[in-house]
Amino acid sequence: MSGPQIRGICFFCKRELAKSGLSRHLTTCPKRLEAQAEAERGARRRQTLYHLQVRDAWSGDYFLHLEMRGTATLHDLDEYLRAIWLECCGHLSAFEIDGVTYDSDADPFGWSDHFLMKDVKANSVFRPGLEMNYQYDFGTTSELTIKVIAQREGRPLSDHPIFLMARNLFEPPPCMVCGAPATWLCTECLYDRADDRCELCDVHAEEHEHEEMLLALVNSPRVGMCGYSGPAEPPY
Ligand SMILES: [Zn+2]
Ligand SMILES: [Zn+2]
Ligand SMILES: [Zn+2]
Ligand SMILES: [Zn+2]
Repeated sequence: MSGPQIRGICFFCKRELAKSGLSRHLTTCPKRLEAQAEAERGARRRQTLYHLQVRDAWSGDYFLHLEMRGTATLHDLDEYLRAIWLECCGHLSAFEIDGVTYDSDADPFGWSDHFLMKDVKANSVFRPGLEMNYQYDFGTTSELTIKVIAQREGRPLSDHPIFLMARNLFEPPPCMVCGAPATWLCTECLYDRADDRCELCDVHAEEHEHEEMLLALVNSPRVGMCGYSGPAEPPY
């Protein structure tokens, strides 16, 4: 997998677009504007809504476009990211925004100057143009970059704190044996083979010599880390 040809899907109109064109598309997508007009006819409380672009800090090949309520907390965003991409065994996580760290849990190290995600609402820290760092698991760390693309005033599109607007399309790498789309990854091969090949289709996973080392290959930047095996599905 490499950068330029990575594509994403807009969940309003179901179009597939180049990664670089998605932010612009979302500002003009007719189906998104329809969904917003529909929400305005409803009764959800009007508030500031933030367009966030989330991507893995390594390659940027995995990305999400989210709309988050201003009244939702950093904890709501943390829960969402864990559900769709990260959760393996309940590790700690943190956001770093303007030099301040916001932790998922009561301070594990006993430092006095720390803040909890659940105490911080989006509208008290977000502004368009802001770029922040997020880390899940301080051992085998998954690191994300989150950018506030835009904000608008309106009624939220759903009853949840976060709405998924677009996501990278998952284009599985070829099986290292036969070239068919791979569905598994062998962590033994990943760490031991000089050529880094470790992807397998269902058929070749079944015959593979390291059967206890296989992990499902899913649409997440945490694949292959700390036994992560998905499901990499949005929580709502
Ligand atoms: Zn669209
Ligand atoms: Zn873990
Ligand atoms: Zn195969
Ligand atoms: Zn193997």
